[in-house]
Amino acid sequence: MTKKQDMPRMRVLFAASECLPFIKTGGLADVAGALPKQLCKNGTDARVVLPLYKRVWEAWGERMECLCEFPVRLGWRCQPCTVRTLTRDGVTYYFIENEYYFGRDYIYGSFDSEEAERFGFFSKAILEMMPRIGFVPEVLHLNDWQCAMCAPLLRLQYAKDPAYSRIRTLMTIHNLKFQGVFDRGFTDELLSLGSAAFDPRCLEFYGAVNYLKGGIVYADRVSTVSPTYAREILTPYYGEQLDGVLRERENALSGLLNGIDADFFDPSKDPALAENFSVDDMAGKAVCKQALLREFGLGVSPDTPVAAVVTRLTDQKGLDLIAHVLDELMCLDMALVVLGTGDKRYENMFAQAAARYPGRVGVRLAYDEALSHRIYAGADLFLMPSRFEPCGLSQLIALRYGAVPVVRETGGLADSVAPYNKYTDTGVGFAFLNYNAHELLYTVQHAVAYYHGDRAMWERLVRRGMEADYSWEEASARYEDLYAHMIS
Ligand code: ADP
Repeated sequence: MTKKQDMPRMRVLFAASECLPFIKTGGLADVAGALPKQLCKNGTDARVVLPLYKRVWEAWGERMECLCEFPVRLGWRCQPCTVRTLTRDGVTYYFIENEYYFGRDYIYGSFDSEEAERFGFFSKAILEMMPRIGFVPEVLHLNDWQCAMCAPLLRLQYAKDPAYSRIRTLMTIHNLKFQGVFDRGFTDELLSLGSAAFDPRCLEFYGAVNYLKGGIVYADRVSTVSPTYAREILTPYYGEQLDGVLRERENALSGLLNGIDADFFDPSKDPALAENFSVDDMAGKAVCKQALLREFGLGVSPDTPVAAVVTRLTDQKGLDLIAHVLDELMCLDMALVVLGTGDKRYENMFAQAAARYPGRVGVRLAYDEALSHRIYAGADLFLMPSRFEPCGLSQLIALRYGAVPVVRETGGLADSVAPYNKYTDTGVGFAFLNYNAHELLYTVQHAVAYYHGDRAMWERLVRRGMEADYSWEEASARYEDLYAHMIS
């Protein structure tokens, strides 16, 4: 039998529009920051490519080395591209530089034709870059719509070239809601894919062009970030108008649950916390709770459970359910802490709640990584009643920091939060099935009753959550199996 160390290292290029520690707007950055790092530790030659945004250049430019420069043709345009690189924690990162497209103050813009062009350029530049830097991967791992067009471009324009003919593509959907839908005429001119590609079985989407659909149709394999979400997106309710296209590719579709970076999210050494703690010494968690109550000016006793919400404030996250039963929730002996930014209506809703319940509801309308860690560490409950949830990382972080998740059983929440079962004394959280505010209310009532009524049970519940392995060490093996399967 061949030993793993005797086998040639698999070559994987991981393409994403955001990646920690360089730039983050959502969960994709966590995955892009952690999965390739773990793959490299396991022995895969995984490298990452992302756009060189202005902010990234300002913070990291000095540490980068210039690798090559070449022109990228986009219709009548000929745009310069510079590839820069740096290595960090054993991972090689490539940055696609073009001042016009990425030297801006924002990451994602709001003008459709500009976004089509910026990320059309990104996709084409990735393909042009590979032979020039001497790294042609066996698997090109595409993430979300921003680089999805690599798949049709590769198949329709590059695959005849022997340099590209052996590349396999994996299209991972982190959130099906975001698809990159653009004007057909413009995209046609931009990418020169030919009219056959604009057929409804290919890129066409209700008269427009859909970049993510291009990835789904042309990639060798498609994956999403949890097994339940992989099943859900085949239905019209969750399918975001692509369920039919996904059903066509059902045999090539997998659902692989994300992990979290267990070094970064580690309550036993997290520098953001008032005091560190672990399952073996939980004293620090009580200190973190006290510090959190002080930080938010909450006057409740240390025996009152603190429920937390840390999220983008969008309707995906089930905030309407919280709004609907907020007054009933506040009849319970509990406090509520909220950290988030996003839609004005939710910002107003939480700001008003803080004004109505001074000393019991604390709200920060901000994006603050360190504060989010202090909240996970100080909270007893973590509310995540999402309408849909491809995977969700927040509930995994909450589990690791001893905050018991209360979730709606959907997508990755259903796959990662086993509900408490009093007969077998198993489970790590509380869950409800229907998108219904009173189901959320009953579930929180139930959880709060256990907190007050059976502390020993609660401590066991917390401990099981903290001990569960949601690390990438575990989760990366599922990707390696899929890559190996694709190559063979
Ligand atoms: P999504 O990707 O849909 O936003 P996830 O649960 O997959 O949701 O990932 C969200 C990540 O962003 C988590 O790491 C969470 O802690 C973090 N996060 C969300 N909102 C905030 C905020 N306002 N401040 C700090 N971190 C946040």
